[in-house]
Amino acid sequence: MKKLLIYAPDAIGRLMAEKLPAEFGALAAAGCFKVPLQSVYPPKTPVCFASMFSGLAPVGHGIRKYEKPVLSCRTIFDALPARGVRTAIAAVKDSSIDLIFRGRRVDYFSGQDDGEVTLLALGLIEEGQHDCLLVYHQRYDDILHASAPWNAAALEAVKEHLLAFGELTRAFDTKWSGLPRAALFAPDHGAHTGPDGRGAHGDNIPDDMDVAHFWKFSPAAAQGS
Ligand SMILES: [Zn+2]
Repeated sequence: MKKLLIYAPDAIGRLMAEKLPAEFGALAAAGCFKVPLQSVYPPKTPVCFASMFSGLAPVGHGIRKYEKPVLSCRTIFDALPARGVRTAIAAVKDSSIDLIFRGRRVDYFSGQDDGEVTLLALGLIEEGQHDCLLVYHQRYDDILHASAPWNAAALEAVKEHLLAFGELTRAFDTKWSGLPRAALFAPDHGAHTGPDGRGAHGDNIPDDMDVAHFWKFSPAAAQGS
């Protein structure tokens, strides 16, 4: 069975790589390759994650604004368990990812904050009961809305997200060494500075819409075995 780790940090757009070139450069050095993508409109968290995990445009999955209903459309959280892929979601409690994919044959774990979610995810990786694990963090998004998207605290939060991705990936690679696998860094949208000086997102502008995902395939996975 192939293994997949998806790390989904909130609101880290492609522009962030220009703000933290050394940190994002380290992803390439660690074997990740970058896939530039466009977010969906409006670039709001539940709209974007619903599209990312259903493959549907907002008009198809039905979430077209900031709201968090349980999705009724088919998602990877329907398709993967149906194929015997044991799947878990670890997310901050009451976040979009914690709520909109409920009701599937998926194991759900909620933490009070990013740190708790990381511990839950590391525990799940160590137990090894799941083939696919989605992990969601939100500290950077919290900070940008409370203050600004590019200040020191915000950039520090992004560095924490990158460190968390590194820690989770190392644990995942150690656990499943020898098996075909992939780790994915997959944010939902970017952010910009709003008229009041605080961070915001939801506009059809590059700062909000341009994102980049980073894939790290194990050698076995890259050979298609
Ligand atoms: Zn936000």
